[in-house]
Amino acid sequence: MDPPAIAVEAFRKSYGDVDAVAGIDFTVAEGEIFGLLGPNGAGKTTTLECLEGIRYPTAGTLRVRGIDPSREPARLRDAIGVQLQTSGLPETMQVEEAMRFFCAYHGVKPRLDLLERLGLQAKLRAEYGTLSTGQQRRLALALALAHDPPVVFLDEPTAGLDVGTRAELHTLVAELRERGVALILATHDMAEAEKLADRVAILLSGRIVASGTPKALTAAAVDLTRVSVRSERETLAGHDGALPGVQRHARKDGYDVYFSDAVGATVMAVLDALEEAGDPLVDLRVERPSLEERFLELTTQGGVA
Ligand code: ATP
Repeated sequence: MDPPAIAVEAFRKSYGDVDAVAGIDFTVAEGEIFGLLGPNGAGKTTTLECLEGIRYPTAGTLRVRGIDPSREPARLRDAIGVQLQTSGLPETMQVEEAMRFFCAYHGVKPRLDLLERLGLQAKLRAEYGTLSTGQQRRLALALALAHDPPVVFLDEPTAGLDVGTRAELHTLVAELRERGVALILATHDMAEAEKLADRVAILLSGRIVASGTPKALTAAAVDLTRVSVRSERETLAGHDGALPGVQRHARKDGYDVYFSDAVGATVMAVLDALEEAGDPLVDLRVERPSLEERFLELTTQGGVA
């Protein structure tokens, strides 16, 4: 088997007392889109920045096409494409000038076609500082891809993009996959990752709590309905494993919360159990959580891999 394009092993990064990343492992193959998902502060940017050679890991091994990012920055430079954050360019630099500058730096022909694809053809002479946030992000994306890097890192690529540009980005990402590019997409947008990524890892407080194909990860949750029950004497706690259809149980704000794949049977059993115990029902809610909520459930419960 070919060595992975990106290999992360026992990677840890601390800032003083804070473990931003607390020991994670993953690989990304050529032609694979890997989604790094997680809420704010989970450690996504830290992981990308260490892979990009901008920060140094505290412990562990990182390799990008066999290159150690913290030791071989010159070799890394042409191997990776990075979508820089908005402050990356001088305010007065024009769009076309930026493209020519980046391409000269990498020793390739300017990719004006990419500017056109990303809807910047009317802005070639515009200064960076006069672009809208979405236009700045589109330019950053064009610059990241201009030298045809075999490895691409995108951090929240569609934040602030309009629908049309988002669709163009999705097409571009599919083309990169076809060409064998290994791509890491860091995002907290579950729907986006589901659409684009072949595999995802969910980061929470610097640890991977779940990983796999988006389908496998969401399938674990999507068929489950949430049944939340509150009773006067809270006698249900002892019934966790015994109720029909219940896959998972949690206690939250005085409620017993059952994640059920047979909601009718679960509700009947809950009512029977309460009646048997002589414990009056206070509240009962049946809800189908959104995908976003499912993601939060996974990340707050320690994960279902
Ligand atoms: P977001 O979605 O908000 O961008 P993230 O998953 O990218 O979040 P990181 O930016 O990697 O998260 O941050 C991970 C943790 O490390 C956070 O607790 C953050 O406060 C902390 N952190 C990041 N950079 C530094 C720094 N330079 N000094 C101290 N702590 C930092």
